[in-house]
Amino acid sequence: MRRMEGRWIEVADRVLVRRYAELDLSVGLVMGDGGCLVVDTRGDERQGAELAAEVRRITRDPWTVVITHSHFDHSFGTRPFLECPVWAQEGCRADLVEEGARTKEAWARRYREEGRADIADDIAKTEIILPDRLVTDRAELAVGGRDVVMSYFGRGHSGNDLVVHVPDAGVVFAGDLVENGAPPAYGDAYPLEWPAAVDGLLGLAGDGAVVVPGHGDPVDREFVVAQRAEIAAVAGLCREVAAGRMSAQEAVRLSPYPEDTTRTALGRPAGG
Ligand SMILES: [Zn+2]
Repeated sequence: MRRMEGRWIEVADRVLVRRYAELDLSVGLVMGDGGCLVVDTRGDERQGAELAAEVRRITRDPWTVVITHSHFDHSFGTRPFLECPVWAQEGCRADLVEEGARTKEAWARRYREEGRADIADDIAKTEIILPDRLVTDRAELAVGGRDVVMSYFGRGHSGNDLVVHVPDAGVVFAGDLVENGAPPAYGDAYPLEWPAAVDGLLGLAGDGAVVVPGHGDPVDREFVVAQRAEIAAVAGLCREVAAGRMSAQEAVRLSPYPEDTTRTALGRPAGG
C-alpha cells in the first residue's frame, strides 16, 4: 500500500500549507527573500524526506524548521532537513528526550497492528532529532527578512504547544491547539489550561486571519472562537467531575464531543 501524495495550498502571500491524507495532517512553508521556514516535518524520516523534496521543488532557499509540538506526526520527520536550525518550545525537546523512544515503539506497533507495515518500519527506523533552538515563552525569527513570531501560551493540547505567527500574512499556525475535521485530541492534554492557550492564539488572529490547524483544512477566527467554547465546556465538565459534583456519565452526556474524547479528557490530571 502506498501513501497518498500531499498537495500544496497557498493560504496567503508566500505562505503555503501542505495537506496529507495520512492523519489529515497539515504542515506549513513560509517563504521570505533568501530563506524559508518549514512548520512541522511529518511523522517519520521517509515522510520528512518527501516533504523536504517537495519544498525544494518550490524554493532553493535555505530553510529553518520549527516544530509545533512533540507529537510524532509533527516532529519525527526532521532528520532529512539537517543541517539547519530546529526551533521548538523547550518542553518539546524535553518530551522527545524522555518519551521519544517509547513513542516511536508504540506508534510502530500500532501501525503494524493496523496492517500498515510500511509506515511501521519507517517509524521504527527513524532517528529522532532534538530541537536545538528553544523557546520559553516567545521568540522572533526573520525568515528571509520576513518576521515570524513563535509563542507559547501555556499547556493545552500538549505540554509544549508552540504557535507560529506570520504577522504580515495574517496567518497563525496553531499546531494541534486547534483541530478541524475531528475532535481535539486529549491524550496528552491539559484540559483545564487548554482554553487559555487558545485565548493566546486568538490574540494573534485578527478578523480575516487564516488559522492553520495541525490536522484538517485551514480555518478562520470564528471557527477557533467556536472551538474555544467547546474546549472550555469540556474544561468545566472536568472540573465538575474532579470535584465530585458530577458523574462521568453525566459529563459524557453534556459534552460537545464524542464519548471517547470526553472520557480521555476526564482521565487527564484534574490539576493540569
Ligand atoms: Zn498533537
